Amino acid sequence: MTEQQTQNWIPDEVDTSVPSMARTYDFLLGGAHNFAVDRMVAEQAEKAMPGAAKIARLNRAFLGRAVRFLIEEGITQFLDIGSGIPTVGNVHVVAQHANPEARVLYVDKDPIAVAHSELMLGNNDNADVLRADMRDPESIVNSSQARRLLDFDKPIGMLLVMMIHWVPDADDPWSLIARYREALPAGSYVALSHVTAETREDQVTEVQGKIRESRSADQLTPRTYDQVLRMFDGFELVEPGLVGCGLWHPRGPGDIADNPELNQQVYAGVGRKL
Ligand code: SAM
Repeated sequence: MTEQQTQNWIPDEVDTSVPSMARTYDFLLGGAHNFAVDRMVAEQAEKAMPGAAKIARLNRAFLGRAVRFLIEEGITQFLDIGSGIPTVGNVHVVAQHANPEARVLYVDKDPIAVAHSELMLGNNDNADVLRADMRDPESIVNSSQARRLLDFDKPIGMLLVMMIHWVPDADDPWSLIARYREALPAGSYVALSHVTAETREDQVTEVQGKIRESRSADQLTPRTYDQVLRMFDGFELVEPGLVGCGLWHPRGPGDIADNPELNQQVYAGVGRKL
């Protein structure tokens, strides 16, 4: 029997012989919604780039701090694109802990991420999940889920955390982000994080090669500081600007690594639409 046949949480359409980056990231974070191929890629990544799992945790910690920051700024509604498989520190848990009225729409293209988000959300009226591809902004912004949950006349916190590096240059992620920005009212925010090869270039290139060999539908495009900075066009970066994710307002030991390279492997920032 294949892994697929023995487990009942796997949607029929999922090919368990090809890794997905949602599941690989889930494994790096210590989650259980992944298969042998995902674990293999994660282990190859950790071997090629020691600290890969720690980087995933640092990124996840940034996500939590960014959501808390946005809540403190008065944001009550979130559009979390590339939200991933539910795991520790889910956005609606962090946001609704601070404000039980906070509304969250999760969006992901990965069927397992969406199926588990549906299960997790149960009858939470203030949160929902949409299966969609971020490269089609209008289908997300105009979806019935977005229109039910989010008020586009009031500021929205858009989260693009650890996901834009899965969008290749050919799809022009800068223009895509601009289309979302246009749909958001003034006072909205974007929180974004993105893998770079400006730190440990050889190791990142090796990880990229392993993912390519794996035939995953998700392929990694690391980008430079300036390329990531341009994603904030039309937004005003809040302090401390675009920095390594471990350096974005760390509040405790889990937020920042002793090894400075790990803090810098993923650029992170939060910007406000003027
Ligand atoms: N945002 C979460 C976090 O930072 O903890 C999860 C990040 S996970 C590494 C990246 C997620 O982006 C995956 O679940 C993947 O399926 C999703 N993703 C990648 N490309 C996407 C696309 N074009 N549209 C929607 N989701 C996408």
